[in-house]
Amino acid sequence: MAKQNGLSRRRLLRASAGAGVLAALGPPAGRAAAEQRAGGVAGRTTEELVFVNGRIHTMDGNNTIANTVSIRNGRFSAVGGGVPVRGPGIRMIDLRGRTAVPGIIDNHNHIVLMGNRPGYHTPLEHTSSIIDVQETIAARAKAIPRGAWVTTIGGFHRNQLFSRDQNPRLPTLVELDMAAPDHPVYISESFMGPSATNSLGKRFFERQTPPVPVGDDGSIAIGSQSTGRATLALRQTLLTFEQRKRGAIDAMTYGLGLGVTTHLDQGAFQAANAPTDGAAHEDNYTMHMPFLALRDEGKLPARLRINFLHQDSTPDLPTLTERLKNSFKFFGDDIVRTGGIGEFIAGFGPSSPFVEAAKRVARAGWRAEVHSLSATDFQQEIQGYEAAHAEFAISDLRWVIAHAPFITEPWVNRLKALGGGLSLTGWRYLAGTPEQNGPPFRIIVDNGIHVGMSSDGMQIAPMNQVLNIYYSTTGLNARQVLINVGQQITREEVLRLFTASNGWFLREEDQIGTIEPGKLADLVVLSDDYFTVADEKMKKIRSVLTLVGGTIVHDAGILQPA
Ligand SMILES: [Zn+2]
Repeated sequence: MAKQNGLSRRRLLRASAGAGVLAALGPPAGRAAAEQRAGGVAGRTTEELVFVNGRIHTMDGNNTIANTVSIRNGRFSAVGGGVPVRGPGIRMIDLRGRTAVPGIIDNHNHIVLMGNRPGYHTPLEHTSSIIDVQETIAARAKAIPRGAWVTTIGGFHRNQLFSRDQNPRLPTLVELDMAAPDHPVYISESFMGPSATNSLGKRFFERQTPPVPVGDDGSIAIGSQSTGRATLALRQTLLTFEQRKRGAIDAMTYGLGLGVTTHLDQGAFQAANAPTDGAAHEDNYTMHMPFLALRDEGKLPARLRINFLHQDSTPDLPTLTERLKNSFKFFGDDIVRTGGIGEFIAGFGPSSPFVEAAKRVARAGWRAEVHSLSATDFQQEIQGYEAAHAEFAISDLRWVIAHAPFITEPWVNRLKALGGGLSLTGWRYLAGTPEQNGPPFRIIVDNGIHVGMSSDGMQIAPMNQVLNIYYSTTGLNARQVLINVGQQITREEVLRLFTASNGWFLREEDQIGTIEPGKLADLVVLSDDYFTVADEKMKKIRSVLTLVGGTIVHDAGILQPA
């Protein structure tokens, strides 16, 4: 494990040398800085923060690239122009030619599920080998209490760990023991496994009644009687309200390290507290509470927008009806706001009350968002939207179809005629094939319909936007097989989808998504030049500095005051 020690030493060095800008500017680093946020505008400095010598891609209507940007009272106060004169009340940070972009908006993910995971959820989406996984788990184990669970539930796939000519597999019990001998480890793919554990984890699972079946190699099979029971046991053992709050901060802090400043959460499958619950199940009525508690304490470090997911299967639509009667639409503030009904408005199946649900959502004036995965489901969905529109106009309500891997241009045009939009994602990156590919990025971006980009993390897809960008610009999956032929878009185009264009999906295009005077100062300074770095290296781009509303909420310790 020599390599691991070397790596953790490097990580330690980076951590101790860190907090360059923050240390010099005053507030403490990382989470502590976030904790100093007092919600709303309180806690924000009245001083002006000025970035100089940057390549600041504003993503405004003219694609302006500026050298300087100034921030005051949480908003961009000046963009471009001459370097401001130094003086009292002005703090300057030298970007030394680095690329900066607007804060990334993820218009469709499951950050609330990620925040409610049992154990110390440890994203593995960036790993590309078993050794990478071991190093990530080892570093995580060092940073958490002794004996605490290191868990990774969803967001990665064994495909990403092996090259094309090798057989993909999960790490073994021995490999996980080498990474974390003193911590139980549980890593679980997708919704329902397969999964793997180490010796301490195996002991825990075999003590359950009845025991969760674990192979000698630490493998836990796919399905409710193995992975489902393992995940349930962890949830029932580990998930206190305080642990959920800690998990919520961890999840958002992870996003800020990537540059994601706003999440539009798309809900969960309603949990039954049974082994049939998978990674995407939670209680839709309580899972936001840890995030709301953090918001009240001024500790929520990134923006959260909440969609409410409903899957009623009977025409009386009991849960949707109560939601529309008793919840407030588009209610909240800059940090947390309700966003719509989605990513389901009704249950599946031939007798789904989808059309009636769409009519009720339309009548109530809410936003609706549903996902499409098959070669035909978008047709029923768009027809349902049209039926609702015939009775209650939805042209101004910004209804959305998400993912839409197989949508065709005539259907895009029907959705466009309703004032609707398409939310695209690169989730095929992990496990897509030349047959299971899409979405047709090129057709849709060229069409002119409202379009934005999301990760659809955290179960079947990574949250990391650069992995989604890699897929949309190269058409390559995690095994570097070209699967989305002819549908690639440019880096400029997909960055626009993840920033300026995504404002529309939140009904906040006047507030976030571009670097323009008056907008909320969400900004990301990148580790590499996004526009010129090689494709494979793009996957490693991280944020070196992230601001939300003018507050530094992530600092890798690289930038220094000018
Ligand atoms: Zn989703």
